[in-house]
Amino acid sequence: MNDRQNPVLYIVIPCYNEQEVLPITAPLFLKKITDLAAAGKISSDSRVLFVNDGSKDTTWDIIRGLANADEHYLGICQSRNRGHQNAVLAGLMEAKDRCDITISIDCDGQDDINAMDGMVDAYRDGCDVVYGVRSKRDTDTFFKRFTAESFYKLLNAMGAEVVFNHADYRLMSARVLQEFSNFKEVNLFLRGMVPLVGFKSTSVTYERHERIAGESHYPLSKMLALAFDGITSLSVKPIRMITGFGVFVAFISFLGVVWAVIQALLGHTVSGWASMTSIICFVSGVQLICLGVIGEYIGKIYMETKARPRYIISERTWEETT
Ligand code: UDP
Ligand code: MG
Repeated sequence: MNDRQNPVLYIVIPCYNEQEVLPITAPLFLKKITDLAAAGKISSDSRVLFVNDGSKDTTWDIIRGLANADEHYLGICQSRNRGHQNAVLAGLMEAKDRCDITISIDCDGQDDINAMDGMVDAYRDGCDVVYGVRSKRDTDTFFKRFTAESFYKLLNAMGAEVVFNHADYRLMSARVLQEFSNFKEVNLFLRGMVPLVGFKSTSVTYERHERIAGESHYPLSKMLALAFDGITSLSVKPIRMITGFGVFVAFISFLGVVWAVIQALLGHTVSGWASMTSIICFVSGVQLICLGVIGEYIGKIYMETKARPRYIISERTWEETT
């Protein structure tokens, strides 16, 4: 270990109900590490580490079968489904003491596996973090592309800085992971947290393909939830905006009061029940939204103070196979 020219690589792959895809993509990952090792770019002790995120189908059985068949496959099983971010974290934390570099990637073959060559080269040239960035999204539907791009724009506008069009396909070195393990938060938004660790980083671009089989587990609702988590766990800008808006409304109201007083002094009585009601309804709506945003932050604080474990590993393949 600790040889930058011959690093031990662990490919970390979260899997949730992926029985259709796994038998197709698993050999591709294995081939990638054997090819890279044959080219002398990584150590032959490199491994493919699957994280089963509490799948309800036969995913874990497939992973166990793979691990029995070839020592280059490893698997850990989460005690229940905890979501993509927690699954990736579990895999990275499990890998960090056993390797020099990790590359996290989805198991559905959408992210171009061949981009790993460029990532490893960048590491060998001295980078500690390499972001996989999608060059274009031609294969995504218009709706998916539009929502995904709005997602990055919204995040940046709200003060959560993320690399544009970078998801969770990235290389991280063991020392970055060591520092990263000190980030104790339970609200995880990995792509926003990794840049906070620092170290020399670069990007590698690749084209995103269609899913090889199975269905996406990220419908719009989950993507909105992830965007909201990303914003609230990385920035307090929404709360500042509420304050700013409050000041603005107060100023307008003040002008309104001045106007009302002047009108009263001039003897014009202000009639207008409708305008009054509209204003009250509007302001109450705004207040409810603002309370909701603040409540969201309080909810986050509540979860953080409990400091519950971010993942629980129930099984590992290497205890069975070795
Ligand atoms: N995934 C997971 N836990 C979940 C949902 C998804 O580990 O609760 C994994 C899934 O198996 C896949 C990756 O996260 O490897 C990305 O999911 P998906 O391909 O469904 O999302 P998309 O690429 O459509 O955004
Ligand atoms: Mg996918």
